[in-house]
Amino acid sequence: MTQPVTAYIGLGSNLSDPQQQLEQACQALAAMPHSKLVGRSPLYRSKPMGPLAQPDYLNGVAVVNTTLAPHTLLDALQDIEASQGRVRSTERWGPRTLDLDLLLYGTQVICDERLTVPHPGLGQRNFVLYPLNEVTDDDMVIPGLGPLASLLLKCPSNGLELVA
Ligand code: ATP
Ligand code: CA
Ligand code: CA
Repeated sequence: MTQPVTAYIGLGSNLSDPQQQLEQACQALAAMPHSKLVGRSPLYRSKPMGPLAQPDYLNGVAVVNTTLAPHTLLDALQDIEASQGRVRSTERWGPRTLDLDLLLYGTQVICDERLTVPHPGLGQRNFVLYPLNEVTDDDMVIPGLGPLASLLLKCPSNGLELVA
């Protein structure tokens, strides 16, 4: 039998009740086949990265133990986004009901036309690194990037706000 892999999923929403969107997304992650939701970070409020004329984001990280292959997991994440009304526009980093990014898939490094893991933004984004730090061990090492603690030291929290 395939050994489960620990995958970290970045959660983001800035439309249609973001808190409810992320709650629903976690329920959907928990219901994915061959997968178990084993952790959730607290949520953070962040300023939009793309066009500024859009609402603030809520972000978090979920932890899933899964035997799904990485591309099958990405399919499942995109199905969940679509089922929660994600509309893909041509505008980069525009507003969305739900964004699920595959941040890490065990220690694997993947780079093809559909999937880059670790996720390309992981190393610089405070709204990813801060919640990730709350659901991983202190000595977490990101493949290709080094210790999570070092990345955090170089990443100011700026306007990031922990949501009670
Ligand atoms: P960013 O990836 O910079 O956070 P985004 O989340 O807004 O931007 P999307 O429009 O959601 O980008 O996704 C664009 C494409 O990125 C997807 O169709 C998918 O194939 C690809 N992709 C590559 N690597 C990943 C990954 N690790 N997780 C999710 N999607 C990925
Ligand atoms: Ca994203
Ligand atoms: Ca995405």
